[in-house]
Amino acid sequence: MNDSLTPQAKDFLNQTIPLFINGTWLSSECGNTTDIIDPSSGQTIATVSSGDEKDVNLAVETADKAFRSWSKLSPEERAEHLNKLADKLQSEAKTLAQLEALDVGKAFVNADGFDIPFGIDCVRYYADLAVKADYGASLDLEDMDARIHRAPYGVCGFIFPWNFPFDLFMWNVMPALAAGNTVVIKPAELTPLTSLYVCKLAEEAGIPAGVINVVVGAGRKVGTPLIEHPKTRRISFTGSSGVGKQIASMCGQRPIPCKLELGGKGAAVVFDDADLDNAVTQLAGAITLNTGQVCCTATRWLIQENLYDAFVEKVTSKLKSTVIGPGIDPKTEMGPVVSQAQQDTVLDYLDKGLTQGATAVLDGGKVDVEGHDGGYYVAPYLLTGSPENICFQEEIFGPAAFLVKFKDEEEALELVNSLEYGLANSVFSEDLERCNRVAEQMVAGNSWINAHNVFAYGLPYGGINMSGVGGGVNCPETFYDYLRDLTIARPLV
Ligand code: NAD
Repeated sequence: MNDSLTPQAKDFLNQTIPLFINGTWLSSECGNTTDIIDPSSGQTIATVSSGDEKDVNLAVETADKAFRSWSKLSPEERAEHLNKLADKLQSEAKTLAQLEALDVGKAFVNADGFDIPFGIDCVRYYADLAVKADYGASLDLEDMDARIHRAPYGVCGFIFPWNFPFDLFMWNVMPALAAGNTVVIKPAELTPLTSLYVCKLAEEAGIPAGVINVVVGAGRKVGTPLIEHPKTRRISFTGSSGVGKQIASMCGQRPIPCKLELGGKGAAVVFDDADLDNAVTQLAGAITLNTGQVCCTATRWLIQENLYDAFVEKVTSKLKSTVIGPGIDPKTEMGPVVSQAQQDTVLDYLDKGLTQGATAVLDGGKVDVEGHDGGYYVAPYLLTGSPENICFQEEIFGPAAFLVKFKDEEEALELVNSLEYGLANSVFSEDLERCNRVAEQMVAGNSWINAHNVFAYGLPYGGINMSGVGGGVNCPETFYDYLRDLTIARPLV
């Protein structure tokens, strides 16, 4: 075990970590376990219980029971519970950052400097919103005493991917809890550690039993029964577009509301009057942050022809200097990808892209890191060629981007909007009027100006088309999404 780990992290990893159901740590009914692999070394770092339908049934039933009292608490009481949880998370921020870096392979500097603090802020943000929110609105109708009453749904199910386990938990689950719902969470099989550690801290913070439940396990064994359970009142899914379509269809059978936050293939349009250094920093950062495993990141770089050569020279030099290493090492700027399978996928795209006629602007691919032989490291690669190329068309989810030169605004917009994905794009130019015009014509949930990957409290975020339905992250809209509208009316004549 890594010597730099906190005693709490060591203790936590030094056991078969059970499921968390009804405020109790339980081994799965079937007795199955899964080994959790450190992507930086390929070594097993922990073993977790792996559940199935029986565990899900117990979790949903207990969450349903807990809903009866949790939903009756005043917003102030719920906020007090959540603020206590935030304090607990804060007191163990280093342990959380280490577990996240070990589990996902992400650079500790990012986990410690961004993921964990941002996630903790989110708990406080929704605690505050719960207190300030409107739980009703009167309607000004003729001959009618009428109003809207907003009430929580009941048990909300969450199915998460592996790239931002802690933040996705906070961003999605906290608004649901703050609104008075109880939750059953299925983390990704590959990266359940911080979700389980949050349960330990929730228990210590006094969150009532049954309000938060975590069942680890495979998609079909845990995710599907969670969706199909009659007492699950809504589902929030974050993951790939392919699985998202299946989830939507299962939710449609019930039917229950289903929020989908899916894949992306974001474009960045860089005009020749852009601040070159900023564009280079933002876009190199876009594919090295979390080793490019970021749904909303920019992986199609559209560069105006006059700027193309200068951009390529600067960005390749910047990417070559990226320090690649094990996630847990504070000096690492970019860790490995999450798994052997993901490494194979990212390298396979490189092969296919080249076979289809792309040219390498920056040679990357499999790379060895001294002293960490078994890790799943990939050096950043950049390709250029036809927009028909598979690497322009499909989400790779690794440190890779595809460059295309464009002549004018019209051509750039056509390229941006040529795919079915619609998550996030950006535009870089000193001409803000042009930036705003282009931003408005990008068909997606988010358009960013002179920056990429922009998140702030109060700024809604979501996708359209193949990138999802709904969304929200840290804004009042997300909070209200976890309340259902009930109209109450009394005719006066
Ligand atoms: P995935 O779709 O393979 O898996 C996501 C989750 O779904 C996992 O927990 C998995 O076990 C579960 N699952 C799989 N099959 C299931 C089934 N039949 N029934 C129920 N659950 C099932 O995605 P991934 O590979 O873990 O994550 C990467 C993807 O997530 C990328 O496409 C990325 O763009 C996307 N993502 C999107 C956002 C967003 O905000 N839009 C955020 C993060 C990641």
